[in-house]
Amino acid sequence: MLVFLENSLASEICVADNDALSLFNQIIQLHAARSHFILMARSAINDVLESVPEKLWTTTPVILDQIKTQASDGFSIKSQLKYFVEISHIDKPEKIKRVTVSGKHVWKMSLSAALDWLSYPSNLIGEHMRDANIYAEAARHYAILKGFDQNSLRVSKDMTGGCGNGPGVAQEKIREKSRPILLILDSDKLTPGHQGSDAVKECNKIQSQNDAVFLFKSTDARELENILPLGLIEGAVLERPISPDRDKWLENIKILRNILSAHPVEYSYVDIKNGTCKKWIQSKGGAVLKFFVKMPVVSECNCSGGCDGYVSPPVVEDILDWVKDFLSLKRADLTLKMVDSNIDQEWMEVGEVVYSFGYANKQRVI
Ligand SMILES: [Zn+2]
Repeated sequence: MLVFLENSLASEICVADNDALSLFNQIIQLHAARSHFILMARSAINDVLESVPEKLWTTTPVILDQIKTQASDGFSIKSQLKYFVEISHIDKPEKIKRVTVSGKHVWKMSLSAALDWLSYPSNLIGEHMRDANIYAEAARHYAILKGFDQNSLRVSKDMTGGCGNGPGVAQEKIREKSRPILLILDSDKLTPGHQGSDAVKECNKIQSQNDAVFLFKSTDARELENILPLGLIEGAVLERPISPDRDKWLENIKILRNILSAHPVEYSYVDIKNGTCKKWIQSKGGAVLKFFVKMPVVSECNCSGGCDGYVSPPVVEDILDWVKDFLSLKRADLTLKMVDSNIDQEWMEVGEVVYSFGYANKQRVI
């Protein structure tokens, strides 16, 4: 997370007592530990260095020098990041305030609150570890395609173990308040107008009721599978041993590509793993039936009789694991060719959020 120490904080530090100076020294250390990225104006750093040199820890001036060198790049990054933290005073305002200014989300807090919330690198939580790993890759793609430094990304990863555990995990992490928390769950929406799962509703409530460095995101699409670039799905399948099954999966991916271009809205809500068949659509009825009405049958479905066929064909149940394995091969140049920032918009949006949350100092100084 980028942490901006405002000039008003620096002015207080220049005349502060030992306790406050200790907090300041601690926050500066977070930059060297590469937990976050500390940003301060060069003039503010000079003021602190001149005013209270005897109260700085031995390593603090060295780290402040690095922060000074990085300041102009830091301000330019800050203007482009979607999420960051601002510290304006030593111990007020007491409460963390989350404000949104022209699309940017800023947590404003005191120095003492910041030391609770920023002790460790940001925590990226998915339903499973493989989801968290995939979201981190989205951030890497976002960084590379936008010309940002992918090495500045630093998150610890965690899992809820399933969508239903989301609210419990969120509350537990908020109670701990040791690090910025980013929780991402599948929305499980069946149509755009659908409310999503109970866990999603509950997590949104937790977010609105807590003063915490906690961000909850759920996919606009049905599941993570729906926002995965089809190029990556195809790349992962191509890694499998040649077999008639593999030919079938590749053929189905081609069909999915056509669906994505002819019915982009519906594509976000089809079942990528198991396929979406007429019988299932009819069993849901109502809004689901109406929503998928324009989609033609593309292949035969093998569900138990009386089914007119798939409107979207199945790829394979394990596709997320395969994509995770494929991404872990770290052939960045290859995987990037498989992502199209114009088509894979939700993938890039998730990447932007994760990148912002995980933005940290990439260079060791001491
Ligand atoms: Zn069927």
